[in-house]
Amino acid sequence: MSDSLLSKVRIVLVNTSDCRNIGSAARAMKTMGLSELILVDPIEMPNGQAQALAAGATDVLKNAKVVSTLEEAISDCGLVVGTSARSRTLPWPMLEPRGCGEKMIAEAQEYPVALVFGRESSGLTNDELQLCHFHVQIPANPEYSSLNLAMAVQTLSYEIRTSFLLHEQKAFTLSDDEEYPVVDETERFYQHFENALKATGFIVPSHPGLVLTKLRRLFNRARPDVKELKMMRGILASVERAAKASKTDNKTD
Ligand code: SAH
Repeated sequence: MSDSLLSKVRIVLVNTSDCRNIGSAARAMKTMGLSELILVDPIEMPNGQAQALAAGATDVLKNAKVVSTLEEAISDCGLVVGTSARSRTLPWPMLEPRGCGEKMIAEAQEYPVALVFGRESSGLTNDELQLCHFHVQIPANPEYSSLNLAMAVQTLSYEIRTSFLLHEQKAFTLSDDEEYPVVDETERFYQHFENALKATGFIVPSHPGLVLTKLRRLFNRARPDVKELKMMRGILASVERAAKASKTDNKTD
């Protein structure tokens, strides 16, 4: 059972430019018992150099799945954590590396979970970071905080392993009544929210502003569970009905 828990933990590398980092990341993963590697639109596909750096972990490299968007890589995940070497303009719920490991192991018991890493040159974009429930930053030297990509994978994979080993002694589990939606469901909810806000006129399509981003942040922080999300969808449906009815009334007036 134990190994299958680690197989629910996905390491996602976005738009990596140097495939040697992919090889080193595969090695970092395997030493910590992780095997699920997803490459989102890699600039350089793994070659012989990547294999050399993967050393005994060429199986992880060979089994890596290649997809074209981050959405595809995480659509069935219930927890997505984005990594960042620096603070961003829009603050997001943060985890410490230790807390990140604990959360991933607690939730990997329910659904696949993903840890997302950015480009060597510029990290993850704001849009990509907004697809994540939490962000994690390795508290490195503030004067030079950017680790090599594979070393960041190593550090955070170690924390996942530490939590996994503790879990083996029955430390971290979600309580029975906690069940969180996967990304696909949450994305459909955001789309529904956007449609409802357009129907009421709260969002003007030509000037959407930051409302949707701020709503994402709010719901990320609140982390609605499956039942709460269902209730929100019901509320939005009633808002849409009311908006439609009031439009029809205005027309007949
Ligand atoms: N110059 C980039 C840094 C990219 S480092 C920037 O300013 O964002 C490449 C990747 O390694 C990052 O996207 C992140 O996934 C990971 N990484 C590097 N340092 C990290 C740190 N201190 N904490 C968390 N992730 C880090």
